[in-house]
Amino acid sequence: MAEAVRGGPKLPGRLREVSRLLSRRFGRPGACGHEIDPIRNLVLTILSQNTTDANRDRAYDHLVKRYPTLPELAAARPSELEEAIRTGGLAKAKAKSILGALARIKEEGGGYSLDFLRGMPLPRARAYLTSLPGVGVKTANILLLFSFGLPAFPVDTHILRVTKRLGLVPAAATLAKAALSLEPHVATGDHVPLHLNLIRLGREVCRPRNPLCAVCPLLSVCPEGARNTKGKVCRP
Ligand code: SF4
Repeated sequence: MAEAVRGGPKLPGRLREVSRLLSRRFGRPGACGHEIDPIRNLVLTILSQNTTDANRDRAYDHLVKRYPTLPELAAARPSELEEAIRTGGLAKAKAKSILGALARIKEEGGGYSLDFLRGMPLPRARAYLTSLPGVGVKTANILLLFSFGLPAFPVDTHILRVTKRLGLVPAAATLAKAALSLEPHVATGDHVPLHLNLIRLGREVCRPRNPLCAVCPLLSVCPEGARNTKGKVCRP
């Protein structure tokens, strides 16, 4: 079956099949961030860089308690903001990115709003977001997908590892290259569930070390899984 991945359907078909198999195991999770204001989502996503969800959430809670409104946050002293978000790690760099991004948005948009991105073509909106300090393709795509409902495809380290093992992206692909190469081939409506389910698979099954290939829902379409389980798994 692994050969079906390599020599059979092309990327859109392979992604559709991966999405179908993941949905069968994990269901089809929907977007939960649409209600989050894009700038709040931007701040949250900057805070999530290189840390756990729990530490990100703690840092965000401290930040919101200390600076309840965006103008208050934008006027924060860098050292005090660093202190407020210290639990999320990389506080100095993240505080600089948050303050720099807010200053640029205010200067160019006339207020603390990213609504001017609505209706903009995806590549243009992404180009604007990635021009902000501390915002790479992954952060931009999270915003575009979860706050603007655009068909962007954020790739994190879990998704990068899983898609490399599946042979969907080259072994040398970076986060940004993988995101941009997969994005146009993801079926309409699959961007959110596929993104969330691949992360869940990467955390629970396709772990960095000792992936649980024998119980993986993608074993039938995974070249690496076929190698890892050769002679060890009885398939019907
Ligand atoms: Fe990862 Fe193994 Fe599943 Fe392939 S079969 S996606 S290597 S856990």
